[in-house]
Amino acid sequence: MSTLSNRIKSIPESATLAMAAKAREMKEKGIEVISLSLGEPDFKTPKHIQGGAIDAINSENYFAYPPVNGYADLRKAISEKFEKDNGLSYTPDQIVVSNGAKQSIANVFMAILNPGDEVIVLTPYWVSYSAMILLAEGTPVFVRGTIENDFKATAEQVEQAITDKTKAIIFSSPCNPTGSVFTKQELEAIAGVLKNREDITIISDEIYELINFGEKHESIGTIDGMIDRTVTVNGFSKGFAMTGWRVGYIGAPTWIAKAANKMQGQYTSGNSSIAQRAAFSALTGSMEPTHQMAEAYEKRRGLVYDLLNEIPGFEVNMPQGAFYFFPNVKYYIGKGTEGLTINTVNDLCLFLLEDARVSLVTGEAFGDPECLRLSYAASEEDLRTAIARIKDSLAKLK
Ligand code: PMP
Ligand code: GLU
Repeated sequence: MSTLSNRIKSIPESATLAMAAKAREMKEKGIEVISLSLGEPDFKTPKHIQGGAIDAINSENYFAYPPVNGYADLRKAISEKFEKDNGLSYTPDQIVVSNGAKQSIANVFMAILNPGDEVIVLTPYWVSYSAMILLAEGTPVFVRGTIENDFKATAEQVEQAITDKTKAIIFSSPCNPTGSVFTKQELEAIAGVLKNREDITIISDEIYELINFGEKHESIGTIDGMIDRTVTVNGFSKGFAMTGWRVGYIGAPTWIAKAANKMQGQYTSGNSSIAQRAAFSALTGSMEPTHQMAEAYEKRRGLVYDLLNEIPGFEVNMPQGAFYFFPNVKYYIGKGTEGLTINTVNDLCLFLLEDARVSLVTGEAFGDPECLRLSYAASEEDLRTAIARIKDSLAKLK
């Protein structure tokens, strides 16, 4: 009998998508569930962006295979965006448009990792980084920030984790799952410890750039000497409420951009022509809807912060960006009801799914088994109801 590869067996299913699927199944059975598991804007894609796609469908110019790395005008618009918004100089040839930032990151790991190469992953990290590194036969090395330092691993920790085998470092800022945002000084300190190791590629995932409530967004690629070794990842899913359109991109050193293009050319070809036209409209049109969404997220952040702080045993940090809270909930480990013991945060999330009918994601999937992630990309009404139900259910655990 044929068997599965060790490669696929080495990775777990995506916990975010698995939890979302569980919630969907319950809803299909008629059970009313509030889904706070998936990091997915609850807003609609702005009309002018939809318009770009509709025009493309009607024009008859966008039926054929698009260029593998993306349409030239879209790559030019991305190159200009990098320059204008981020102070990063990537030429259009250094841009690769992909099927979501997920594919962008997977391409980079496939392009640069050899078996045994190590990738430093600032932890808590977005769920798919470790799986993608394993699929590319690399080894993730987790460098952990905790709630005490706002979940931000330090430059000293990074320095200690560097070995002869280190090939890359990856982090997101604003961070999924913690909402933490690295300041310019913190990025400079990290860049400082990487300075003499030009063989280490920096992968800076900035997909939540536009959902940032604190200081100005900073890109590590702007720090002296870094642009030639930094892959900056971004995309349309979050800031433009376009998760289903699947458009992400990188700006990268030319050798990596070429390799990502080659990878994509063999695996998937270019990203959907219509989705790329929508993305072009997003970049060249009004940013007003994006700013309104960010304002709504900020308001919800305040609401959720207050509500979560009323729950006994929840230790909560104040996220500066993205749309997640990542409370430490270790207080509940070892508690239970008659016939049920909560041994892990995963058990806690399953209990809350059953009892409170709220879906959340265990922190284990993000490298911190004491925490859970709650996405507040949901209506204020749903957030209030969900957190009230969570509180009631938790009160049953003794
Ligand atoms: N990076 C981070 C930090 C994310 O949260 C996500 C979530 N989808 C992605 C990358 C991938 O985004 P997408 O594939 O939808 O562009
Ligand atoms: N990035 C989102 C999340 O973390 C979407 C799910 C995914 O792509 O894994 O929930």
